[in-house]
Amino acid sequence: MELNSLIQKEFRTTESQKKALKKLGLNTIRDLLFYFPSRYESTEDLKEIKGLKKGDKIILYAQVKKIKATKAYYKKIPMTEATLEDATGVIKAIWFRQAYISKMLHEGSYAKFTGTISERNGKLYLANPEYQNVSSLPIVSKEALFSEKNSDSFIFPVYPETRGLSSKWIYHKIEKIFSVGILDEISDPISKEILKKYNLPILKTALIWIHTPQKKSDAQASRKRFAFEEVFFISLLRAKQKTEYQKNPSFKISKTQKELNEFIKRFPFKATDSQLNSIKVILKDFKKDYAMNRLLEGDVGSGKTAVAAATIYAITTTSPKNQPSAHLQTAYMVPTEILAKQHFESFIKFFEYLNINIGLITSSGCFKFPSKVSPTTWTKISRAQLSKWVANGEIPILIGTHSLIQKSVEFKNLAYIIIDEQHKFGILQRQKLSKKNGANSNITTNNAENKELTPHLLSMTATPIPRTLALSIYGDLDLTLLDQMPHGRKPIITEIVTPSQRDNTYQQIKEKLKEGRQLYVICPRIEEPDPTKAGALRVKSVTAEAQRLKTEVFPEYKIGILHSKMKPAEKEEVMGDFASGKITILVATSVVEVGVNVKNATMIILEGAERFGLAQLHQLRGRVIRSNHQAYCFVFSDTKTEKTLERLQALKTAKNGFELAEFDLELRGSGELIGNKQWGMSDLAMEAIKNIRLVEAARTEAQKLIEGDSELQNHPLVLEKVSELEKLIHFE
Ligand code: ADP
Ligand code: MG
Repeated sequence: MELNSLIQKEFRTTESQKKALKKLGLNTIRDLLFYFPSRYESTEDLKEIKGLKKGDKIILYAQVKKIKATKAYYKKIPMTEATLEDATGVIKAIWFRQAYISKMLHEGSYAKFTGTISERNGKLYLANPEYQNVSSLPIVSKEALFSEKNSDSFIFPVYPETRGLSSKWIYHKIEKIFSVGILDEISDPISKEILKKYNLPILKTALIWIHTPQKKSDAQASRKRFAFEEVFFISLLRAKQKTEYQKNPSFKISKTQKELNEFIKRFPFKATDSQLNSIKVILKDFKKDYAMNRLLEGDVGSGKTAVAAATIYAITTTSPKNQPSAHLQTAYMVPTEILAKQHFESFIKFFEYLNINIGLITSSGCFKFPSKVSPTTWTKISRAQLSKWVANGEIPILIGTHSLIQKSVEFKNLAYIIIDEQHKFGILQRQKLSKKNGANSNITTNNAENKELTPHLLSMTATPIPRTLALSIYGDLDLTLLDQMPHGRKPIITEIVTPSQRDNTYQQIKEKLKEGRQLYVICPRIEEPDPTKAGALRVKSVTAEAQRLKTEVFPEYKIGILHSKMKPAEKEEVMGDFASGKITILVATSVVEVGVNVKNATMIILEGAERFGLAQLHQLRGRVIRSNHQAYCFVFSDTKTEKTLERLQALKTAKNGFELAEFDLELRGSGELIGNKQWGMSDLAMEAIKNIRLVEAARTEAQKLIEGDSELQNHPLVLEKVSELEKLIHFE
């Protein structure tokens, strides 16, 4: 057996196992070795029903005697209730908000339950346990299960399973692999010095510990090592990408701060110091020999658009080489059509005095300002016409949705690309854009003079993520924080509302609706293991809540709904109706997160708030920070636990979204961080991100290494790993 041998060659596998291995991307023995357990169980946790106490974290084998879907004590919360029995007694299990489980487990069947014992009204029950069907109960549980091990307590790994492949199967194969002494073949890509410095196990030890730990602390040390390794390689990759990017020559823009002040002076407000500083930093980037690649991270409502506009001004008022009467061009990309239209309108206001053309491209149509017939407004034009004007350089500013990259728009003098709400675009799309113009880019220039030049790139996001994390995953970008809110902005009044206070709050809202304001109602997403069902339930929760509000609370108002299962065109239509006031109340899932500006919507209800992370609640709340009317956020929660209420209180006290993101990380772990799936990190590394010291250490070591050896020529093993990672992320 060798590291590169195929699993199917070394072990007998059934058809369904073959399928499962393929699905998990496990081909070789090496793949299997690096397929890590998601958690560990210990025989110490294996319990019988008799003798259980409140707070026990247990594993229980039991028969399902009764099971049904029902509603919780205080109305409306769907749940599943089951009666479980083993040889020693009977206990209830309850799954809140997971009525579907009543269909997954059958009366009379056996299952393994993992969870915590809770108590209500003096009765013990198993709260929201994980479950796994088994064919029968172990006769004497401990012995029957682990007869091969002869110790009193034994830790065994639990691997993420898929249909056809059990955790146990994987475990046994790993043991086989270990027994043939193959581990000596693997070389450790991390140097002994680094490992020693941070007290991390060498690769061989780490592999043994992660799969077959003797103590839980061994498993932890090993996970720490692999997390370190991942952050280390991601940091290296980003640092390398950054060095490479900086080799791209770009357009040199020599506008002075003074020239820009002419433009900034015209803002209908006084720019914040933070905005001025960001503009200055970008202007400085423009003067360098290579293309800018910068991330502007600013809380919702911090005024990123104005920073974008001022820097676009610098580009627009610069002429391309040998074309004295032309303008350098800017492409501004946003994730939705409504947002594109909104930006089109605000950019017209910013730039109309310059007498330049501004274009808008979306999948439902193209527009140009000014219209020939009526110069104060815009006109619809054909895609062909727009393309022509962009290609000959007559439209200096083009705003658009994905259409901008998908339809291969050709520019003449493209010097600046802005990606707004960049977290809504995948890493791949981001990279597509940041590629040098020409062969690999979807945005191209047709002018030979510009062919060799890479446009400057500005990404903007309101995703609050902790700084260390930002520095690792966005390590290829330069980072600017917009950490100041516009002057005189009234803070949103945020109230935590418990069930008994609801009616009162509804009355308060009605008063404001009468004054002509509008309301968002956000319903929670429902997390469950089966994603197809999750979707179905989520939709139902929005529609059911809209129905309830219509009949019980706000019969006199028009209520619209918005959720991710709707077609893009339907979504756009509903958002459009809400923006124009045709709809007064919008009941939605968190899809409204993206920066749409409905100035008149000054109230937001966040239902089931305990199910969201604080940073996400904050981002949702940001929907109502956009006008001079006092804005309100009502955080509705059914929770009875003090701790959860306390956590929600942070929404009233925290200074900004970044602070809340740090709270989330501390209190609930990385799972709460917004958009964590798109960063190309494993669950293990995401969990380790909590350990800020580890992240910093890995980043520091990566930087040191790349500084001494920017091409990684002297570290072939490391280079190999980094290239692998690059490919992996690229093909995601
Ligand atoms: P975001 O950072 O979320 O993209 P926007 O750029 O959309 O924020 O700005 C939100 C609102 O704040 C807009 O209506 C904008 O005109 C206004 N605004 C931006 N900067 C300032 C400022 N310095 N003072 C007052 N209002 C501002
Ligand atoms: Mg914005």
